[in-house]
Amino acid sequence: MPKTASSQEETTLSPEIRAKYEPVIGLEVHVQLLTQTKIFCACSTRFGDPPNANTCPVCLGLPGTLPVLNKRAVELAMSASLAINCTVHEHSRFARKNYFYPDLPKGYQISQYELPLATGGWIEIEHDGAKKRIGITRLHLEEDAAKNLHEGFAHSADKAYVDFNRCGSPLSEIVSEPDMRTPEEAHAYLATLRQILLYTGVSDCNMEEGSLRCDGNVSVRLRGAKEFGTKVEVKNLNSFRFLQKALEYEIERQITILESGGRIAQETRLWHQNENRTVAMRSKEKAHDYRYFPEPDLLPVHVSSVWRDQVLHSLPELPTPKRARFVTQYAITPYDAEVLTASQALADYFEAAVKAGAPGKTAANWMQTELLRRLNDSGKEISASPVSPPALAELVTLVESGKITGAVAKKVFATMFDSSRSAAEIVAAESLGAQIDDSVIEQAAREVIAKNPDNVAKFKSGNEGVFKFFVGQVMRATRGQANPQTVNDIVRKLLSS
Ligand SMILES: [Zn+2]
Repeated sequence: MPKTASSQEETTLSPEIRAKYEPVIGLEVHVQLLTQTKIFCACSTRFGDPPNANTCPVCLGLPGTLPVLNKRAVELAMSASLAINCTVHEHSRFARKNYFYPDLPKGYQISQYELPLATGGWIEIEHDGAKKRIGITRLHLEEDAAKNLHEGFAHSADKAYVDFNRCGSPLSEIVSEPDMRTPEEAHAYLATLRQILLYTGVSDCNMEEGSLRCDGNVSVRLRGAKEFGTKVEVKNLNSFRFLQKALEYEIERQITILESGGRIAQETRLWHQNENRTVAMRSKEKAHDYRYFPEPDLLPVHVSSVWRDQVLHSLPELPTPKRARFVTQYAITPYDAEVLTASQALADYFEAAVKAGAPGKTAANWMQTELLRRLNDSGKEISASPVSPPALAELVTLVESGKITGAVAKKVFATMFDSSRSAAEIVAAESLGAQIDDSVIEQAAREVIAKNPDNVAKFKSGNEGVFKFFVGQVMRATRGQANPQTVNDIVRKLLSS
């Protein structure tokens, strides 16, 4: 049956047509800095408080108020900048970005424009076993806007509500170079950046609470072309899944337009997660639309080399070098190292277990199987693990020394996880020690009997009390590892024969 025109329209692009084009992707990430208070006032940044509980004249934009810069916000932004290999500038400056919106009470946002805090960095991503360096154009500081609430209130049907708690929260905007070529690379970039921001304690990166938000710049060009195509900004890519789906959709949309002879409009589009598509939001605004000018109420930001070096030296070991060190220092595989450095807390747990005596590879195996599975099943974080690193090390040592078998150890671990009791305690209480073979006990018993003919004679003449002597000697000969009942049975059998 011949295809109808409409079914052809619905058909997705053929691999041949898709292969003609190369996507070009850059990401703009907004990350909320983990400060106690807002960037220009002393209001709390706590998430989830009643609407408008954390506000003051400064963050409500009342006339006559003056902003005061939060030093901790600058410090955290410096940490982020240095961790992504940016140059932190000695002099940067805040600027007013003017636009009107109900969630922006001053009518302008205090941001940084022509003199950002840091520029010219990079991070390394890994995808499909290949490493690639993605450039970072800039990192700047700015204040967050408030939040418009469109549902959940008495008059939501005909009114919009505004919650100013978020207004004035400190943000860093991190702009990448257009260095990514696939949605998968964009995914890897965001995951790598998020991990670095978590390691450095710059942000909690909670995407559900809006602490990490992502917009994408996407264009396509014929493979081999030097010029970039017209770029479209896609907003609201606020989960890893949406990021990938939205980029895939947008790339396909642009190729379809170009293939049918059309032109791409330079615009801002919004990802609609329920409809699985991007929709046009507005034509792309240009910098001059915002009438940027230097913020007259704040002094320029001055970062001395001493302060910068202090922040640099306070940075923790970052994920990439930590992975490399784990592989060489603990003789584990690169895959093990990747799993164990997923978070700082997991990496710390592993190193604490090794320090407490567990061999690296064995600790890595236990963590990746039993520990992570049980944490996952019980919805617990590693920091709340009922089994501490020394407790895991103790269990591993019992297996390594042959005191218990691997199969028994798994049962012991399950009990440890549920009860927080130690491995040795559980092994003793439940008599789980490795069982000595009956023939070994019998051999020991024969030797004890052969060495003590006098006591054998006493037993045979009816002295039942001397039986305990034989049992005690056999238990000693088997170093307490034999089952006492088995020893009893074997000794009685031999003495009675
Ligand atoms: Zn305030």
